[in-house]
Amino acid sequence: PALQPGAQWHNGFASLPPVFYTRLQPTPMPELAMHARNEALAQDMGLRPEWLASSEATQVLGGNALLPGMDALASVYSGHQFGHWAGQLGDGRAILLGEIRSATAPQGLELQLKGAGKTPYSRMGDGRAVLRSSIREYLCSEAMHGLGVPTTRALSLVTSPQPIYRETVETAAVVARVAPSFVRFGHFEHFAARDDQDSLRKLADYVVERYLPEVAQHASGSSERYAAFLAEVAERTARMIALWQAHGFCHGVMNTDNMSILGLTIDYGPFQFLDHYDANHICNHSDTGGRYAFARQPQVAYWNLFCLGQALLPLIDDEATTLAALERYKTALEPAMQRALGAKLGLDPARSTAPEAVASVVNPLLALMQQHRTDYSLFWRALSQAVADDRLPALAHWFNGDAAFETWCEQYQALLQPGDAAATAARMFAANPRYVLRNHLGQEAITAAQQGNWTPFQRLQTVLATPYAEHPGCEDLAALPPDWAQHIEISCSS
Ligand code: AMP
Ligand code: MG
Ligand code: MG
Repeated sequence: PALQPGAQWHNGFASLPPVFYTRLQPTPMPELAMHARNEALAQDMGLRPEWLASSEATQVLGGNALLPGMDALASVYSGHQFGHWAGQLGDGRAILLGEIRSATAPQGLELQLKGAGKTPYSRMGDGRAVLRSSIREYLCSEAMHGLGVPTTRALSLVTSPQPIYRETVETAAVVARVAPSFVRFGHFEHFAARDDQDSLRKLADYVVERYLPEVAQHASGSSERYAAFLAEVAERTARMIALWQAHGFCHGVMNTDNMSILGLTIDYGPFQFLDHYDANHICNHSDTGGRYAFARQPQVAYWNLFCLGQALLPLIDDEATTLAALERYKTALEPAMQRALGAKLGLDPARSTAPEAVASVVNPLLALMQQHRTDYSLFWRALSQAVADDRLPALAHWFNGDAAFETWCEQYQALLQPGDAAATAARMFAANPRYVLRNHLGQEAITAAQQGNWTPFQRLQTVLATPYAEHPGCEDLAALPPDWAQHIEISCSS
């Protein structure tokens, strides 16, 4: 059997009226093969690991078959892309098969196949995803989970030799994505733009009643409910963004249709973890204006929330209340950044440190990193080790011997509790990962997999699942990037 006792497939989203989606089947592909499976996630979903290894699972998770209780559909949404209203978009290549409820996931987890064929929302697209981008999505969503960043998950990666035409001929793959919900800001913008207040409210009530019990205490139809909803989304978004910034994660396509209503990182396209620190880094080759540059992400998230606020305005009814709800983003972002950066610095969360004190240590450090092109992740990990060894000055080479680093060490020391080095270092090792999914590592796994060698992919899968741990024999995955890494160009084409 596929399921553990008590687990069951159904589709809660399908209980919404038909205006929200189109029921349809995934389009089959030939010669499916499963190359990655996530047994831990399967377990959480109430799926049996033996089933995940079965040929039936390959057929279902590759889009060639459905299981009883599944009810496949593509949902409709709209959105702002690169600052402009894009009109109707929708699940153009993602098909929601349903959701599973189990003892370990009583709230339900949805299963969506990305690259499962055309839908009414495919526009010019082919409804497919290439192997290259599917490998990046699988690895990165699991890497984010390993880091502790809210994200959609990846259950499996299934390939087909079916040719897919991008700049060159590539082959197809399907990632099975998992999340409590895939609803985006753009779903709300869609119904607001059509002046369909009834659907707007139904969707808000659905999300609130299913996923946000605190907000659901306010009555349906009341302005309070939708203001509290907006504030909750703002807060979750702030917490997510703080972690992106702390980990040097650049999303690349922060369009409103790529913003999750639950504050999950979603839509892994041209993302990148910073190699050397550069606040102005643009990871998306198509983003010529740098709208989504690394340091702009916090502001862009607010811009996107503002679009959501505008969409919800008819339900909230009052502009001042809407703006007040949006304020939650700002009030939540700063403490979230403090927590994330304080953890990286090893500060004791039980002792309150003044925000200005944290900023006065972090800002000059980032300025030094920017100036000396210091590797972001490696430096933080080296700092953790230097604290453990009480050898801060040994890090001077990361800044080419710059005397400003000596001054910085003194400022940092002053912030730390004397005699607390072991506990400080332990906190730092748990906050500063040894392994991040750098572009060149993903690229090496892709090149090998395209030639039939999945070993590099599997090594990454293993270390990224527990990125704060040491993995003996995997030192090469925690090294400085090679020169060619700078020249990798990743665009929206996937
Ligand atoms: P993205 O830039 O990934 O957020 O995608 C924007 C929109 O284009 C979404 O509605 C996607 O579903 C759609 N889309 C992207 N790639 C494809 C594709 N290959 N086939 C169909 N629709 C696609
Ligand atoms: Mg998208
Ligand atoms: Mg995408």
